[in-house]
Parts: sequence; structure tokens; C-alpha cells
Amino acid sequence: MKPSAVIPAWGKILRGQRPLLSIEITRRCPLHCPGCYAYQPEHLGGAVTLNELVDFQGDALISGVLALVRRHRPLHVSIVGGEPLVRYRELDVLLPQLDRMGVEVQLVTSAVRPVPIAWRSIPNLHLVVSIDGLAAEHNVRRAPATYDRILKHIAGHNFVVHCTVTRPMIGRPGYFKEFAEFWSAREEIRKIWFSLYTPQEGEQSAERLRPEDRQAILKELAELRGAFPKVELPDRVLDGYHHAPASPEECIFAQTTTCVSADLKTPIGPCQFGGKPVCSECGCVASAALASVGRYKLGGMVKVSDLFAWSQKIGHRVRPPRPAMVPGEPQPAEGSASN
Ligand code: SF4
Ligand code: SF4
Repeated sequence: MKPSAVIPAWGKILRGQRPLLSIEITRRCPLHCPGCYAYQPEHLGGAVTLNELVDFQGDALISGVLALVRRHRPLHVSIVGGEPLVRYRELDVLLPQLDRMGVEVQLVTSAVRPVPIAWRSIPNLHLVVSIDGLAAEHNVRRAPATYDRILKHIAGHNFVVHCTVTRPMIGRPGYFKEFAEFWSAREEIRKIWFSLYTPQEGEQSAERLRPEDRQAILKELAELRGAFPKVELPDRVLDGYHHAPASPEECIFAQTTTCVSADLKTPIGPCQFGGKPVCSECGCVASAALASVGRYKLGGMVKVSDLFAWSQKIGHRVRPPRPAMVPGEPQPAEGSASN
């Protein structure tokens, strides 16, 4: 979200609204990444899985997303998946419309297929490609979205590279330097972001980082910034990673974002990860940035997080929290859902 959107965002919170919206625009994805949270049985709370949801396409998806945006009137929309490019035809229509509505959009993709070049000229669109480390590891984890294909598919664009650091990436000295060197040299890349793997409660996976891993990674990443200006890792984000929120209630990002899954009505909570994420080991870049802002004291006296909590209480009195979609509200026609 742009700095100029802070005041409108605050206004929304005072009116009981959430300024950020995240949409899993499809349940489909041709990849099978280890550690993907979207297809875990608990992602949507356990009663239903992402694969079991209705998956809209065509006009039903376009009108459904626009209805959701008109209803929530967010300042910023994140489009995630599944793999959003599975619905590139619908996005070809949706993205310019959202731009005309003045909504900033971030689209996160694996770049498993070519990204339409017309999207480059949409001013409020920010494209992010997920990369799981260097080619040797990435190509195994994220086939068929291999390095070779990604480079072809993002050519001519302005992308942010986003790498979620997992345990298999650590242990080789200079790994992240090599990563930053490779992607910094690409003209289609404007920024490089690093986040840390966020586990679920009770998870014992190869991806999960130990506390000492987090400390070592953050030190290594901080040192990259001088040599590689495209690495965007401000001190406030580092600070957020070092002091992650203790719970979703303390997470400003979770409290300001409405997350909706592929049927455009099932809520995802407590945040975009769904399930039961371990907040104290959170590695989400947006949560880290906002957590750090929350600790800032206005005039040296009042913490921003306290001001946020008061604003949220006022907002809840003005407009009690509502579900993502009101039962009975017009919804996309199920007849046009894909199988
Ligand atoms: S591309 Fe994204 S949605 Fe698809 S399997 Fe990988 S992490 Fe999951
Ligand atoms: S974004 Fe991170 S800190 Fe916030 S609720 Fe989710 S896991 Fe917890």
C-alpha cells in the first residue's frame, strides 16, 4: 500500500472496514510446491478444503470479484491462488477494471505461463513472482514453473521477485548472495523481497526454520542490502521479523485484511495462511512491516498499535464485523463454475 493511502486506510478502520482484501482467485494450480499452505486440510478451517470449493471462471468470476471489491471497497487487493494465471483471460478483463476503480492490485504468480504483456501498462498493478531459491532447488520444488520458463514468461515486465526462505535453502554459505546477484542482474526485476517460512501449529516439516536459523538468515539478508540495492528489506521489516506478533489479535496485517477463498465467499482466517499459523514464527513481509510500525510511538508517547486498537474498537461500534459475503447476497452463478 502506498504511503498516501495511510489516511484513507485509517478512515476505513474508524468506519469498521478493513482496507486490504486478499482473494484466492482460483483453486487450481499446476504446481505442487512442498510447504504450500493453500491445499492443507486445515487451510479453510477444516470443514472444507480449497480443492472442494466451487471454482468460477468467465463472466461469473469477473462479476463475482467485482461484486466482492464493490462490497468491501478495499484500497489494496492481493490476487493469489491457486495459480492466478490459470484465469489469465478473466484477469485480462478484471485488472484494467480494478485499475479504473482506483484499486491498487498485487498479483502473486509462479509465472508458469506467459504473463500478458498488456498488463505492463496497468499503472496500479504490481506483479510478484514467487521463487524458491536458486535454480537447482527451485526447479525441483516448483516444476513446471522452472527458472527457464519463468525468465521467458516475465520478459518485458516489471516484476518483484519474492523468495520465501525455507530450511533447505540454508547451510550453504553465500546462497542468498548468489540469489540476489542472479535476480539483481535481470532488467525485468525491480525489487527482491525475502520472507521467512511460516509454519502451522504442530508442523514438523523440512521447511520449518529453527529460531537460530531465523537469526542467522536475517543477519545474512541484512548484509546483502548494501551490495544489492534491489533487495528491499528495510530495518522496520527486519525488526518485524525479529519481534513477530504473539497472536492474530496482535497482528495489524491480519486485523486489516479480509481474506476470501476461491468460491468468493469462504473466509480464510486468521490471515492469508489459514489454518493455525504460528504467529511467533511468522515470516510474512507485510505482517512484519506493520508489526514494526505498530511499535512506533507517536510523539514518543502513544504506540501506533494502541491507536490502531482504539480505532478498531470505534470502527466495530460503528459497523460490527460482517462475514465476507452476506448470505442471500447475489453470488456468481454456480452453473458457470469449472470442475
Ligand atoms: S504455486 Fe502457490 S498455490 Fe500452487 S502449489 Fe505452489 S505455493 Fe501452492
Ligand atoms: S500474518 Fe503472521 S502474525 Fe499475522 S496472523 Fe498470520 S501468522 Fe500470525
